[in-house]
Amino acid sequence: MKKQYKRVVVKVGTSTLAHSTGRLNIRRVGRLVETLSDLQNEGYEIVLVSSGAIGIGAGKLGFRERPTDIPTRQACAAVGQCELMYTYDRLFGQYNHTVAQVLMTRHTVEEPQSRENAINAFSSLLSLGVIPVINENDTVAIEEVEFGDNDTLSAIVAELVEADLLILLTDIDGLYDKDPHEAEDAKLIPVVKWITDEIRMLAGRAKSKMGTGGMVTKVQAAERATALGIPTVIANGREPEILYDVLAGKSIGTVFLAGEE
Ligand code: GLU
Repeated sequence: MKKQYKRVVVKVGTSTLAHSTGRLNIRRVGRLVETLSDLQNEGYEIVLVSSGAIGIGAGKLGFRERPTDIPTRQACAAVGQCELMYTYDRLFGQYNHTVAQVLMTRHTVEEPQSRENAINAFSSLLSLGVIPVINENDTVAIEEVEFGDNDTLSAIVAELVEADLLILLTDIDGLYDKDPHEAEDAKLIPVVKWITDEIRMLAGRAKSKMGTGGMVTKVQAAERATALGIPTVIANGREPEILYDVLAGKSIGTVFLAGEE
């Protein structure tokens, strides 16, 4: 990746934002916000797609596991989204950055008028220098109106804001040629030029312990974004500072090229 990127969508999953208890990983979120604020200061336009509402809400409400029944999940999302935005607002505020919450459902992008409204809102927020923080509206998005996972949502957001790059931060270094949880000799695939059936199959085999979608939805998101000319990187969010290296064009994680490179 040599190109200079300006508008960057960064997606972070629950496994990056929360401890296994479900409670917020304060140190990691702090480092993520510091890095994103600094990148914004450097001239990038950052759009953050953040998961964590249900997981953090469940942690806050004292559930040991993620609830499976829908109304309880809705309640957890409502509580967790609040904590999430409160945290982002405070932390970004320390660096004089303003965040805005944008909650979306499938309806937002499928219905032409509301899609246009969303595009206009993003464009206005970005021109005001605000960092939009996006999540699915899990309190009201049930079945037929839900995206189901934030990987898909992040690719849609990348399309709506006409991003130059999509970065998916997760709890694994990228796409491997074998399942790294099972095979010790599994090797990271640094660059994917074309998403072939073989790549889709590799994604299908890799299991993720925590997040919703695992590798399948990440590769699908990459497929969707690269088809629109938006290169996509899957990288480990454990050290959020790696975003500097990704944007400097260093070989980090797995990069899905979008044709022209
Ligand atoms: N929207 C969900 C949440 O905030 C997460 C979905 C996902 O992890 O992909 O909890």
